[in-house]
Amino acid sequence: MASEGPRPLVAGNWKMNGGVAMLKEPRLLAAMLKDVKLKAEVMVCPPAVILRRVKSVLKGSKIKLGGQDCHAAASGAHTGDISAEMLKEAGCTAVIVGHSERRTNHQETDETVLNKAKAAQRAGLTAIICIGETLEERKGGKTLDVVASQLKGSLPPGSTAANTVIAYEPVWAIGTGLTPTTAEVAEVHSLIRKELEGLMAGEGKGVRILYGGSVKPANAAELMSQPNVNGALVGGASLKASDFLGIIKVYA
Ligand code: PEP
Repeated sequence: MASEGPRPLVAGNWKMNGGVAMLKEPRLLAAMLKDVKLKAEVMVCPPAVILRRVKSVLKGSKIKLGGQDCHAAASGAHTGDISAEMLKEAGCTAVIVGHSERRTNHQETDETVLNKAKAAQRAGLTAIICIGETLEERKGGKTLDVVASQLKGSLPPGSTAANTVIAYEPVWAIGTGLTPTTAEVAEVHSLIRKELEGLMAGEGKGVRILYGGSVKPANAAELMSQPNVNGALVGGASLKASDFLGIIKVYA
């Protein structure tokens, strides 16, 4: 049984996977979801170069489209970057910002993430803001402090429940097959909710807080049933329609 709260979101982060050969997966997913009554919003976030092709495959389906990252500026001399406005034009309704792979591989700070989230909101997209501790931080008993500080530093002032989603992704759980215990997930999500209510006043209770990190069909129901878990951000298991469906079905 999924936990109560705002309408959940299950978003698939394809990362740097999925060329044209992968278009069959969203096509299959759309067909499999056609007659399923869903309590959750479903989204796929493919690489930017195939957004338009995925958009056309998803035409007429319930599945939404998201980007994986955006630049803080709307346009300009930023070779290789993509603006939130461009993602919006390509058919996205949301964009992931501050994923731990961006924070680590591209040295993104909380301030960078805040500016990207602000850009997403400016363009009319929902910013899916990722936060989470490293293994060293967890072992050092710093998880709650790290998560609270990342949240405070990455959340633009004036954010609303409609234009903001928080994804709690322990760095050590991403792509490793490891997950925190359900009690650990519940503890962090409850802290995030409390912090959101402090930072966003009345809006805080409506913000969706996703759990991400090795979510699979086999563990999704248990993870999603925790209080203040309002969906999932899924990496590896979103690449195959049948696996992703196994997670989405928690909300059927
Ligand atoms: C992610 O990268 O956002 C993620 C959660 O990956 P995985 O599900 O593969 O752990």
